[in-house]
Amino acid sequence: MAATASASEQAILDAVPKQLLIGGRWVDGSAGTLGVEDPATGETLCEIADASVEDAKAALGAADEAFRTFRGVAPRERGDILRRAYEAIVARADELALLMTMEMGKPLAEAKAEVTYGAAFLRWYAEEAVRINGRFTVNEAGAGRVLTMKQPVGPCLFITPWNFPLAMGTRKIGPAIAAGCSMVVKPAKQTPLSMLMLARILEEAGLPDGVLNVVTASSSGSIMEPLIKDPRLRKLSFTGSTEVGRTLIAQSADQVLKVSMELGGNAPFLVFEDADLDAAVDGAMIAKMRNGGEACTSANRFHVHESVADEFARRLAERIGAMKVGRGTEDGVTMGPLIDEAQRSKVAELVEDAVGKGAKVLCGGRRVDGAGYFYAPTVLSNIPDDANLLREEIFGPVAPVTTFATEDEAIARANDTEYGLVAYVYTQDVNRAFRVIERLDTGMIGLNQGLVSNAGAPFGGWKQSGFGREGGPEGIEEYLELKYVAMNVGS
Ligand code: NAP
Repeated sequence: MAATASASEQAILDAVPKQLLIGGRWVDGSAGTLGVEDPATGETLCEIADASVEDAKAALGAADEAFRTFRGVAPRERGDILRRAYEAIVARADELALLMTMEMGKPLAEAKAEVTYGAAFLRWYAEEAVRINGRFTVNEAGAGRVLTMKQPVGPCLFITPWNFPLAMGTRKIGPAIAAGCSMVVKPAKQTPLSMLMLARILEEAGLPDGVLNVVTASSSGSIMEPLIKDPRLRKLSFTGSTEVGRTLIAQSADQVLKVSMELGGNAPFLVFEDADLDAAVDGAMIAKMRNGGEACTSANRFHVHESVADEFARRLAERIGAMKVGRGTEDGVTMGPLIDEAQRSKVAELVEDAVGKGAKVLCGGRRVDGAGYFYAPTVLSNIPDDANLLREEIFGPVAPVTTFATEDEAIARANDTEYGLVAYVYTQDVNRAFRVIERLDTGMIGLNQGLVSNAGAPFGGWKQSGFGREGGPEGIEEYLELKYVAMNVGS
């Protein structure tokens, strides 16, 4: 453990299981161990198990076996397990938040917000477990009946990213358990500790052995592909980059696997001339700076009407320039480090490219010296149309402000991307709001608000941001197969 750890940090690190969870047993990884780093210091927090292909296959075998009985467990009992896990997470929110801050870097308050958000999926799906319905109708000819039923899809594989170490897991695990599925979960190698703690909590909540298996690995590609091609697997749900998503979709084609993809974004944030500018700046702070900009929903580019763009950029730079950068455990810190040096270099390159092409730096625009992967919160204006950061996901604390003259131009600019996850719209004109919303090619829209995430709502994207939905009544459908029975009765 790092020399800088406090007693409470050491206590939570000691409590984390560091092995693989396979069939209800915590076991060592056959490939040895891998280190987990604190991105604020660059120091190693602890070592965890490194899985081999054989370990991953054993985890799928355990999920396959557990599915045979878990599919028959009463819906109320499945819901009760989720409810108990939800309550345990809420009761332990402070220590889970501290753990998340240590492995991922976000400030404690944001980590706690993620713990609450992540737990909400377990509560939501605890309530959905008892509401899995079919339908029954008289055949339109009058003779015969149509019956439909929904059944669990089977053993699932979940691959999750580092930016929301807990919530990206519970968005899948909650509905899968509610539906009666079993699963293998592979968290990102940079942030596996929150997932390992969640597995322990679900175990303590009474989840039967083998329903949830966790493999952590340094070599994701080589251990995941054999599972994706294994006929025992019936469903893959992935959250991560569009690039890796494409590879996994191709691998899934072999056995026509049911697939859900929550991929990258390039969210436009539109501010019209009639917007409440104070509200727009407040919303921008959330949409851009939440999670240090390392969110798929992060506002990637601000398109602001030319009559208010200078004022909007000035106010935004005032707020962003005043953010306190530091280790997320320190009092008052509002911006933690980026996840690693590769991410920081990518952000720095995108800023250098824009500035080299004529963008103006209103605040930030540089790495922060010293240990850890810090980058100064940045606002840029005068963005040239060929700047790479208008096309690529920035995934860092950089807000580029560009202008538009007309509503048509705003919409055209917003839609000018292969991504289609989320867009933000600020206007006080309700007719304009509907006109714009209906023409935006995204799965989600924040109207006069900078945050769309909500356990009761369908999260997901259009175009190359993926397919499938997480959250709400829609989210459980990803884990249910539909069966139709043509009944020769009633005639
Ligand atoms: P990533 O590099 O795609 O990794 C995501 C997960 O996939 C990690 O667990 C990673 O394991 C694993 N992985 C990487 N290569 C793999 C391969 N060849 N085969 C199987 N698994 C593989 O993404 P990231 O950098 O962690 O996350 C950031 C991305 O996620 C951004 O693009 C962001 O927009 C997206 N995201 C989307 C949503 C959404 O709901 N739409 C939510 C959050 C994040 P390792 O850790 O071992 O590399």
